[in-house]
Amino acid sequence: MRFYSTKSPERFVDLRTAVLQSLPADGGLYMPESIPQLPASFFEHLPEMSFKEMAMVLCTPYLESDFSSDEIRDIIDTAVSFPAPLVAVDERISSLELWHGPTLAFKDFGARFMAAIMGRLVKEEPRELHILVATSGDTGGAVASGFLGIDKVKVTILYPAGKVSPLQEKQLTTLGQNIQALKVEGTFDDCQGMVKTAFLDKELNERFMLASANSINISRLIPQMFYYANAYAQAEQKEKLVVAVPSGNFGNMTAGLMAKHMGLPIHRFIAATNVNDIVPEYLNSGIFNPRPSVPTISNAMDVGDPSNFQRMLDLYSGEHARMIEDVQGFAYTDEQTKECIQEVHGRTGYVMDPHGAVAYLALQDSLGEGEHGILLETAHPAKFLPVMKPLIQDFPIPERLAELDEEPAFFHDTPAEFEALKSFMFEQY
Ligand SMILES: *Cc1c(COP(=O)(O)O)cnc(C)c1O
Repeated sequence: MRFYSTKSPERFVDLRTAVLQSLPADGGLYMPESIPQLPASFFEHLPEMSFKEMAMVLCTPYLESDFSSDEIRDIIDTAVSFPAPLVAVDERISSLELWHGPTLAFKDFGARFMAAIMGRLVKEEPRELHILVATSGDTGGAVASGFLGIDKVKVTILYPAGKVSPLQEKQLTTLGQNIQALKVEGTFDDCQGMVKTAFLDKELNERFMLASANSINISRLIPQMFYYANAYAQAEQKEKLVVAVPSGNFGNMTAGLMAKHMGLPIHRFIAATNVNDIVPEYLNSGIFNPRPSVPTISNAMDVGDPSNFQRMLDLYSGEHARMIEDVQGFAYTDEQTKECIQEVHGRTGYVMDPHGAVAYLALQDSLGEGEHGILLETAHPAKFLPVMKPLIQDFPIPERLAELDEEPAFFHDTPAEFEALKSFMFEQY
């Protein structure tokens, strides 16, 4: 499989370049040359297949030019090492729990798969690989955990001071080894901007081999298709399935749409956001108007300029009318989200995190006759204790997170300027 930049569809690179370079020099994003359509019989047999077996079939077309099937199997064994159960919330809505991995968020899927691929590719490179990653919450922890201890890879994480939850911060700052955390005096968009500038900076790129681990890296999107297939396999009602994706940078959503383009019979998708509703607004009006992000209780979705939107457009050849046949957009306030968490818990006993609750609200407002809804529960609710505790009495904390709270944190206070990142890199390495 070859890959092209969304800004120059006529120029192709191989998987190694797309993954290690992350971001094409023209400011576009890499996309696979084609999204192969799998036979209907594959999807009919999903219920009899294991999670790893379906993952193998879904990712082979994208990897087989660079990896043998034994290598692909090893990569999947590392990345798909925990389940993603579909749990009924009420009669019409089920929750796909994507938080059973090491950092309790769905980003473990993408990060572990990407780390497995990069760890293999970098062995044949003359230099070490430096991963730069901006995080609004869970990316940093998942990336840090995925790359921890991998040879020839150094990770630098940028996160906005005071805008990630205390437990998320602990997951970024307690690992040590090849992982460094920069606590940036700014917003997530500032962090993302600093990383984007780094990839365009001549001096940094001459000195270091840089790669991104954000959802802009195509290797993170590929494994995120797996759990959509696994959700379909587990669903009792397979007709008219509607999947609501709580979205920020829209990597998760893009992966779902790629799975649909490969033939996965999902009826339609919902892009669910907090008040950072740039994509729902586009879907409803045709106008894409990125703007500074606003802080909310579902902070992993506080994104004002969603990077994967370019890929969504690319999948639909830029045609709004075609995109809205597959995806509709809904947005909710923090007040609505909190009420929803309490209401659903009171009625069903099920506890959703603030991100999953936004998706639940969208399903509630959107499900039509005969449709069944699946919300993606993208993180364990305990990752958002300050929000959850006042809402749910006697809220239990998983042991893993309680232990983390005791660990000492290491980070570098950093102004929200690209130059600060640059001098950190030159001083540190
Ligand atoms: C990252 C994240 C999201 C948003 O995912 P995108 O792929 O960036 O749209 C939603 N929920 C949680 C818990 C996350 O960590």
